[in-house]
Amino acid sequence: MADFVQVIDPGHGGHDPGATANGLREEDLTLKIALYTRDYIYELYEGVKVYLTRDKDVFVSLSERADFANRLKADHFCSIHINAGGGDGFESFIYSGSYANKSKTNAIRNALHDVIVAETRFKDRGKKEGNLAVLRETNMPAVLTENGFIDNKDDADFLKSDDNLRKIALAHAHGLAKAHGWKPKVKPTSEANPAPKASAGEKVFYRVVAGSFADRKNAEKRVRELKAKGIESFIDEYRA
Ligand SMILES: [Zn+2]
Repeated sequence: MADFVQVIDPGHGGHDPGATANGLREEDLTLKIALYTRDYIYELYEGVKVYLTRDKDVFVSLSERADFANRLKADHFCSIHINAGGGDGFESFIYSGSYANKSKTNAIRNALHDVIVAETRFKDRGKKEGNLAVLRETNMPAVLTENGFIDNKDDADFLKSDDNLRKIALAHAHGLAKAHGWKPKVKPTSEANPAPKASAGEKVFYRVVAGSFADRKNAEKRVRELKAKGIESFIDEYRA
């Protein structure tokens, strides 16, 4: 199967700083969150290709951002912004018009929105619709997230911490993965489960893991592949 193509769009940049307050510029925060989100996606999931509409402090017009995603035939577009204008918390937008994939667009947004609110503990301002250019001009399901208010003292304090920007990014990665059904990368067993120490009279056995699958069919396929290579294996079901 072809890789899932995820476009991430850090709002503003270059001569357009976006909202500014409390010593912060929206363009800097959105870029960091987008870069961290890409890192987390590559670290945690397989079968995904991430493209950013900008990866440095440059100006890109709204239509160029949408065209970029359309040319890539991206599967999903996620625009990252910071709010301003009096308020606090998190809100997300999908395009308000009527269009073919609106229910799918909304379902993806809902999953992403809920994960971000749960993981960041931002106040939930709600799931909204708007006539925003990047949402209107993209051909694929698209969402825009507004991650706190730059002109709210508490939100700005939260956004001043790099750890919190990473938290917002990780929440985007988790939320997109949940929404799109991305497959987690399998960590080597030694990392996930350090070898247990044997206590007196106990024997330690070493199990060789050659894959971990959400779908039994894929596990069966792996067993067949190993068998074709002369390696006997079996499926061990576990629940997590
Ligand atoms: Zn913005």
